[in-house]
Amino acid sequence: MLPEWNVPFRALIDAAPDGMLVCDEGGTLVLVNGQTERMFGYAHGELPGQPLDILIPSRLHGRHHHHLARFTAQPRLRPMGDDLDLFARRKDGSEFPVEVSLSPFTTERGLLIIAGIRDVSERRALERDKRRATAFLLSAIEAVQEAFLLFDEHDRVVMVNSAARELLGAVGDAPIIGRSFEAVLRASITAGTFETGGAPDAFAAHWLAYHRNPSGVLDVRMAGGRCLRVTERKTADHGTVTTVLDISDDMQRTQELHTAREQAEAASAAKSEFLSSMSHELRTPLNAILGFAQLLERDRKQPLSDRQLERLGHVLRGGEHLLRLIDDVLDLARIEARRIAISVEAVDVADVVLEVVHTLEPTAARVGAHIAPLTVIPGLPRVVADRTRLAQILMNFGSNAIKYGKPGGQLALRIERLPDALRIAVADDGIGIPADKRDRIFEPFQRAGQESGPIEGTGIGLTISKRLAELMGGSVGFTSEVGVGSEFWIDLAMFRERAAPAPARRAPAGPPSRLTDTSLRHTVVYVEDNPSNIAFMRDLIEELPSVELLTADTAELGLELIRSRRPRAVIMDINLPGMSGFEAVKSLRASPETRDIPVIGLSAAALVRDTARAADAGFVRYLTKPVKIEELTQTLEQLLASG
Ligand code: ADP
Repeated sequence: MLPEWNVPFRALIDAAPDGMLVCDEGGTLVLVNGQTERMFGYAHGELPGQPLDILIPSRLHGRHHHHLARFTAQPRLRPMGDDLDLFARRKDGSEFPVEVSLSPFTTERGLLIIAGIRDVSERRALERDKRRATAFLLSAIEAVQEAFLLFDEHDRVVMVNSAARELLGAVGDAPIIGRSFEAVLRASITAGTFETGGAPDAFAAHWLAYHRNPSGVLDVRMAGGRCLRVTERKTADHGTVTTVLDISDDMQRTQELHTAREQAEAASAAKSEFLSSMSHELRTPLNAILGFAQLLERDRKQPLSDRQLERLGHVLRGGEHLLRLIDDVLDLARIEARRIAISVEAVDVADVVLEVVHTLEPTAARVGAHIAPLTVIPGLPRVVADRTRLAQILMNFGSNAIKYGKPGGQLALRIERLPDALRIAVADDGIGIPADKRDRIFEPFQRAGQESGPIEGTGIGLTISKRLAELMGGSVGFTSEVGVGSEFWIDLAMFRERAAPAPARRAPAGPPSRLTDTSLRHTVVYVEDNPSNIAFMRDLIEELPSVELLTADTAELGLELIRSRRPRAVIMDINLPGMSGFEAVKSLRASPETRDIPVIGLSAAALVRDTARAADAGFVRYLTKPVKIEELTQTLEQLLASG
C-alpha cells in the first residue's frame, strides 16, 4: 500500500517545520512527518493506517467529510476551508486551531492528498489580544466627551468615535474609516455641517492649513450656531489625532460672566461717581456753614452770648464731623473707582512712624494718653510703600487708639521684622472690640457698636486703610480683647536693598551679562515724574555698568529725548502729568525712526484690563510697581540681547 518513499525525501519532510501528512481518497492516513506526530501527540509510526478523522474533533467530522469530497471531485492546490476557523484534535482530545493547505497527488493506486498543517494557536492568541486591545481603545475613545478621530501617516481615518460621526453629520455613503481627512472634511462641508461664512473653499483651506501644521486650537462654528474647539496634534508615527469639543456652553457662560462683570463695574463706577459728585456738592454749602459759624464765633463787634456760643459750638462740631465724613467718603469713592494715585518707593519706616507720633502727640495729650517712645531696631530694611498713604494709615490706627483708648491710657507704635514683611503695629490699652463685631470691622460704615456711643467717627477709616494697604501690595490685621486693648498693624514688603558687591557676583558662572559687561554701552530712557522713583531707578541702574540712564519727567520731554538719543530701550511710567505713557508709546510706534525701540510700561495700575491695553498700545512688556528688581533687569537683559 505504501508508495516507495525514498530515504532522503523522508528525511526532508521530517525536517519540515510544518506538519505534513498524506492520506488516500478514502481518508486513511498513509504517511505523516515527525512534526505532525509531535503536533498531535502521537508516537512515531502510530498514525499511518489510521483514519484521518482521529486528527479532527468529532463535532467537525461532517463538515470535514464534505470538504474532502469536494476536494477529491476537483483536486487542485489550495488552502483548506478559506475563511473558516479550522480545528485539529490531539491524541489527548484537546483541540487547537490550524491552517491547512491541500494538494492532490495522483498515483497508479489512485488519488493521494498531501496536507500541510500549521498550528496557529499562538497567532490566533495574538490576534485575539490585538482585537481585545482595539476594542478597549475604541470603548475608551467612545467614552470621551469630545469627538475623536485618528488619522494614519497617509492621513486616512483609522479610528473614529460616535461623537465625531454625529458631529461630522452626513459624509456620504462611504464609511469614514479609510477616507482621507480632506475627503471627510469636504463631504461634511458639502452636507452643510459648518458655518462657512459663504466661503466653503476658504473654510476648508483654513482648516486644512491647521491640520497640516497644527499648533494651538482652531475654533469653528456649526451651521446651527454652536461653537467647536478643534485641537489637532501629530503622533510620533506621523499620524494625526483630532479632537473636537463643543464649547458653546462655556462661551455662553464666559459671555454672561463678562456681561455681569461689566454691569457690576458700571454699577460700581456709577455709585462711586455719585458719591464723589454728591460729596463735592455737600462741601460747598458746608463751607458756608462752617465759615460763617466761625465768623460768628469770633465776632468781636457783636459778641454772642454764652448760650449762643454753646449752641454755635454744636453747629461747628457737627459741621466738622460732616466735613470729615465727606472727605472720607470722597477718598473711599476715589479708591473704589481706582482713581487714586499710589506711588510706591523705598520708605524708611522709622522716619514715618516718628512723624506720625509727632503729629498724634497733641491729640493724645488732650485726653491724657501717653505714647511710648519708639524703639528703633538698627539695620531695618526699608519697605515698598507710598509714603504719604502709609502715614495716612498709621494716623488712622493711631487716632483710633487714642479715641477708643482709656483716658490717661498708653499707646505704643512698634516695628517688627517678619520673615517676608515688615510689620508696623499700633497698640492701645483701650476698650477693645467685641468678638462678634470683629469680622466686619474693615467694611465701610461698620462702627462695631460705637454708632450710638459718644465717640465721633464715620466707620470708613479702617476700610480706607485696608484698601490703601492692598494697593501698595501690603495687608492689614488686628487683635483685640474687650477691656484690655487692641493692636492694629500693616504688613509691607521689604525693599530689597542693594547688597554689597560680593566676590561671587563679580565672577558670574555664566556668560557675562549684557547689563554688567563694561565693554558695552546701552542707553535707556526712563520717563517718570515721581522723584523718589527716579532716584530708585538710578540706584538700580548704577549696578549695571553697561547701562546709561537718561530720565525725563514728562512724556513730552521723554519723546524729545528718545528721538534725539535713540536709546536701546525705554521704561515708561503710565500716569504722567500731561501726555500719558499710553499716548507716548503710541506716538513712538507711529514714527518709523522710533517704531522699533522697545518700551517697557511701568505702572501702579495692576489691572488685567491695563495689561491688555498696554499690549495693544505697543508696550513690549508691562511691569507693575512696586518694581521687582529681578523682573526688570531680566526684561532689560532680554531686550538688549535681542536688539
Ligand atoms: P471710626 O473710628 O471713624 O468709627 P474706623 O473705620 O476707623 O471708623 O473704625 C471702625 C470701628 O472700629 C470703630 O468705630 C471702632 O468701633 C472700632 N475700632 C477701631 N480701632 C479701634 C481701637 N483701637 N480700639 C477699639 N475699637 C476700635
